Amino acid sequence: KLAAMPVMRKMGFAGKPVTDETVILDAAPALKARLLANENPFGPSPAAKKAIQETLDTSYQYAFMQLSTLSGKIAAYEGINQSNIMLNSGSSALLLAAAIHYSKGGKSIITGDPSYDDLPTSALRNGGKWVKVPLTKDYKLDLDAMEAKVDDNTGLVYICNPNNPTGTVVDTDKLKAFCERVSKKTMVFVDEAYIDYLPDPQATTLIGGVKAGQNIIVARTFSKLYGFAGLRCGYIVAQPDTIHALSIYTGGAFNLSATTIAAAIAGYRETDFLQDALKKTIASREFLYATLKKEGYEYIPSSANFVMFPLKMDGAKFVGEMMKRGVGIRNWKLNGADWCRVSIGRMDEMEAFADAFKQLS
Ligand code: PMP
Repeated sequence: KLAAMPVMRKMGFAGKPVTDETVILDAAPALKARLLANENPFGPSPAAKKAIQETLDTSYQYAFMQLSTLSGKIAAYEGINQSNIMLNSGSSALLLAAAIHYSKGGKSIITGDPSYDDLPTSALRNGGKWVKVPLTKDYKLDLDAMEAKVDDNTGLVYICNPNNPTGTVVDTDKLKAFCERVSKKTMVFVDEAYIDYLPDPQATTLIGGVKAGQNIIVARTFSKLYGFAGLRCGYIVAQPDTIHALSIYTGGAFNLSATTIAAAIAGYRETDFLQDALKKTIASREFLYATLKKEGYEYIPSSANFVMFPLKMDGAKFVGEMMKRGVGIRNWKLNGADWCRVSIGRMDEMEAFADAFKQLS
């Protein structure tokens, strides 16, 4: 009954509708380790929290000027114009806008398999098609195979880099060349939700492609390394005409709260705090690798705040058994087999995972 993903789906998780079958996840408050949604328990920063407090007195005001301050900060750091940026309450809203726009008229969305399924799932519900391309043997997006699938009916190619759920990264030069070629034929959407976990995000981002005038959309979020998942702040970087086309679906600038904008302004590029969160994440990830090795399990080395490994039992059963022990994780199918994805949390959460996992393996 408490298998994590079906319950979350029924609760309307990730934009899925709440149905009559909605189950109240009564186990959630009791979780010792909440490792199921790639959240970052080390954020938001003290400066971001202070900014929220300080904004409460003026929160009767619409925050359009502050929104412009935030997009100005991002534009200055990335060397782009504010007209290249569209912010919203999390990148999910922007993935949804792209799904609707680029699947219109039954167009297809090309993704890796497995990859983050939010955008193509929304496209399907909008009457679009979903073309799934298996990963390479080393669990990376197969850019060549994805490019080979592009045809006249393609609406968008979705590249999640690092890829959720595998945590793998494609070769940067290869992806840059891919975007240059493929964007001449169709829209390329590069989801960089987890790019802040890489040692050098600026060397890996495709924002340079936007600067060079390419027909691509780069998505970023404050939900991951910034620890803002519940505050809701994300953005896309794209050509102004793309932003204009997608703005029809997003409800405009008023979707972000004044408190969230203030937190994002205070927290943006707060390098020391983010580096500390990154260090703690890497230490927890190393501990998880050691736990898996000790129990005789393989895993996919990850560049993000989650790790995927093949299970030796039914995935739904494993999730349920872990949940009974107070550990929330997710199961996944990869090449027809059962896999688990564990988000990286605090060390005490990784220890709780290890304790429960030892009982089951
Ligand atoms: N993209 C990817 C790859 C994700 O994993 C997620 C959330 N798990 C999102 C986008 C959406 O994040 P948010 O709406 O919180 O910005």
